[in-house]
Amino acid sequence: MKYLIDPRLKQGKANLHCHTCLSDGTLTPQEVKERYMAHGYDIVAYSDHEILHDNSYLTDENFVALTAVEYSVNDPAPYWRDEKCFHFNLFSHDPHNTFHVGSSERNAGRYFARFKDEFRCDGYDRVFTKECVNEVIRRAREAGFLVQLNHPNWSLNTREDYMMLDGLWGLEILNYCTELETGTEYCPIIYEDMLNHGKRLFCTMGDDNHNDGGRDFGSYGGVTYILVDTLTYDNVFASLEKGNFYCSSGPRIRSLAIDGDRVILECDPAMNVVLTSKNRRFKNVFGEGLTHVEFDLDKDCEYFRITVMDDKGGRANTNAYFESDFRD
Ligand SMILES: [Zn+2]
Ligand SMILES: [Zn+2]
Repeated sequence: MKYLIDPRLKQGKANLHCHTCLSDGTLTPQEVKERYMAHGYDIVAYSDHEILHDNSYLTDENFVALTAVEYSVNDPAPYWRDEKCFHFNLFSHDPHNTFHVGSSERNAGRYFARFKDEFRCDGYDRVFTKECVNEVIRRAREAGFLVQLNHPNWSLNTREDYMMLDGLWGLEILNYCTELETGTEYCPIIYEDMLNHGKRLFCTMGDDNHNDGGRDFGSYGGVTYILVDTLTYDNVFASLEKGNFYCSSGPRIRSLAIDGDRVILECDPAMNVVLTSKNRRFKNVFGEGLTHVEFDLDKDCEYFRITVMDDKGGRANTNAYFESDFRD
């Protein structure tokens, strides 16, 4: 038997998308740490717009501040509400890395003036073309970043847009703030589409909280649980890199194991558990208060992923596990 979600590991509770007063949020990084820790979180990725900040002074034995940034690439339109874009979260392998790859003074935009004394970049100007965005992803990966596509619906991304991206580490399948605002940002269907057409990437959930007026609007709704033995920056990053995590807007997954062709799941009480694999190869277990579910994998499944649905509308989503990885 092999664990894909190992019950012996700690599940570090993470918000992988957050803004502070260093960009257009209102709380200080310290205040974000305090509020999230009060809600049981262990990890926050500080993904302020355009400028990397080293918030590692906030990391201690009970908390990891991931160094991150959110890059925008806009396809100019006369009115911003019609403007298509890509927003990427870059998570840094090195907590102290504040060098901007795939960025320019123009890209840093309104934040450049505020941080110009410390802003360092490779001067690669981002524009909305296939070649350019893929070069940004390539440069970011080479510099030790994991690159995530954020809120594809808010960004007005079409299938052509997200399918042209190469080298993505992850897709944000729930952006809680935008989901509250639009009702369209829980988007496992986009993850599904990418998986079914040759992309291999992980899925996450995040809040994208800005805390306007100091309120908690958009907080504590999109959680990524990262499995670690001890909570350190390096362990958290290594688990992200390997896909050793799952995400949830409610129920927890306690354990996921594979034993031959059998998939064995332990979870919080659920009313439906789905095993999804390529195209229309799905299986369900329906019930009340399901906490232990088993499935038989089909021979030609190629990959599978699990969705746990509770009776309050919460969803837990695993990453896709590919046969080539889980078969020894
Ligand atoms: Zn964004
Ligand atoms: Zn954001």
